[in-house]
Amino acid sequence: MLDFLNNVKPKTIKYYSRFNINDKKNKAHHIYPKNITELKKIFKYAKTKKQKILCVGNSKSWFDTVSNRHGIIINLKKFNRQIKLNRSKNLCVSSNVTLEEIYQFLNPLNLTLYNLPGYLNITVGGCISNNVHGKDSFKFGTFAENIIDFTILLPNGKIKKCSKMINKEIFYAAIGGLGLIGIILNVKLNVKKITSYVITENHKCKDYKQLIDVIYQDKDKYDYIYSWVDTVRGRGIVFKSKHINLNSTEFKKNKIKKNLNNLKHLIIKFFLSQIMKRDFMSFLNYIFFIINKRFSKKIENIKDIVELSKVNAIDLPNLIYPNSFVEIQFIIPKKKIRILKNFLKLLKKENLSALITGIKIHKKSIGYLTFADEGISISINIICNYNDKDKISKIKKINNYIIKNKLKIYLAKDFFLDKSDINLIYPNFKKFLNVKKKFDKQDLLYSDFLRRIS
Ligand SMILES: Cc1cc2nc3c(=O)[nH]c(=O)nc-3n(C[C@H](O)[C@H](O)[C@H](O)COP(=O)(O)OP(=O)(O)OC[C@H]3O[C@@H](n4cnc5c(N)ncnc54)[C@H](O)[C@@H]3O)c2cc1C
Repeated sequence: MLDFLNNVKPKTIKYYSRFNINDKKNKAHHIYPKNITELKKIFKYAKTKKQKILCVGNSKSWFDTVSNRHGIIINLKKFNRQIKLNRSKNLCVSSNVTLEEIYQFLNPLNLTLYNLPGYLNITVGGCISNNVHGKDSFKFGTFAENIIDFTILLPNGKIKKCSKMINKEIFYAAIGGLGLIGIILNVKLNVKKITSYVITENHKCKDYKQLIDVIYQDKDKYDYIYSWVDTVRGRGIVFKSKHINLNSTEFKKNKIKKNLNNLKHLIIKFFLSQIMKRDFMSFLNYIFFIINKRFSKKIENIKDIVELSKVNAIDLPNLIYPNSFVEIQFIIPKKKIRILKNFLKLLKKENLSALITGIKIHKKSIGYLTFADEGISISINIICNYNDKDKISKIKKINNYIIKNKLKIYLAKDFFLDKSDINLIYPNFKKFLNVKKKFDKQDLLYSDFLRRIS
């Protein structure tokens, strides 16, 4: 009956961040079912053997939300891939399709999805289960806002269609539900019409206060806003983009930004790897600020905004090998913005320099465990080895400061939360667990993240 499970040997679980990379005992059975029948058989098998199951996408979440030590990890890679527009111009996709594939499909039609994150090699299933956000999230919320409906396989073997109107509690729990409610199968999404070019303004800001002011100034006139802050010096750059019509005078007046050619890309990659291996983050941040103009305007292809150019697509974990990353992304309501000042002070005091510190604006969105809320998010990226106890204890201090202030930490990139923390910063966590209990009495769907916070 379970012939496709034969000879499946447990394999080491690897995280995108490479954190814990040397723990060879961190193993699971990785299974690639081809269809629903096989998926249901795995459910049955796991129930009889009292095994836990976790479904993953491309495992581009940073830590243990994508691991299930000693259990079964399901990947839908071998399922049929579907990607098409229906008669009402809604995008119908299977959950294993990546955003890159969707981008390639929609871009020639001058269409896109709302709220695309800064990295496209991730699946629709993963995007829903973390309810990801993008540079336009201040306008459109989160990935969930694209969803018209989806089908989900529940632990009891039933497939349900869910939307804001049908099976609502499953819908709101599965959005941002970290794969713990059911396995998302097919999804219907809204698309929006766009032009293929944007005009981007760079604003250099002398300190974080100015940066926040610039971010919020006339924000509704723009389609994408994101920024970078130098955590050591407190200064940064804001990037604001809006779609532009090819016949407009603005398009004719401004220069089109050239893309990096492969040679430049290689040089940047080499330069970055040398700096990152030596953890010279402060220097990197310094250079980045210096080479940017005080104010500039340029025209870019939308692809560069969505993926922040080839530089962002560089495989960061390989560059820092044998080190690993830790990232903390948290959200500050606008009225509590003074916390940012203290946070930057604390980073300095602990002598922690971050590689990329991005700031984005958000608005409240749906889903019990959704990260996005009204306010700004800060994500800091620190090179840190799993064995570096001293650095980890410093990072934990930063983490505790955020929790003490009851600020939400993004679960897709969390490393340190525990049970009391999650209840404090995600007030709907109990509600989420109640839905899980209702539809997954045996706790069939599980992850190491859930183990950590339970
Ligand atoms: C370089 C980089 C940049 C990033 N930038 C952003 C950003 O700008 N904004 C942002 O929001 N995030 C960002 N992320 C995080 C990333 O977008 C999310 O972690 C995303 O969910 C990863 O998708 P995945 O397909 O790899 O899913 P995985 O990481 O494999 O899984 C994510 C979660 O979804 C669940 N899951 C996956 N498939 C299914 C399914 N079919 N049914 C049910 N559950 C499922 C898993 O159990 C897991 O809990 C970034 C990540 C990287 C590596």
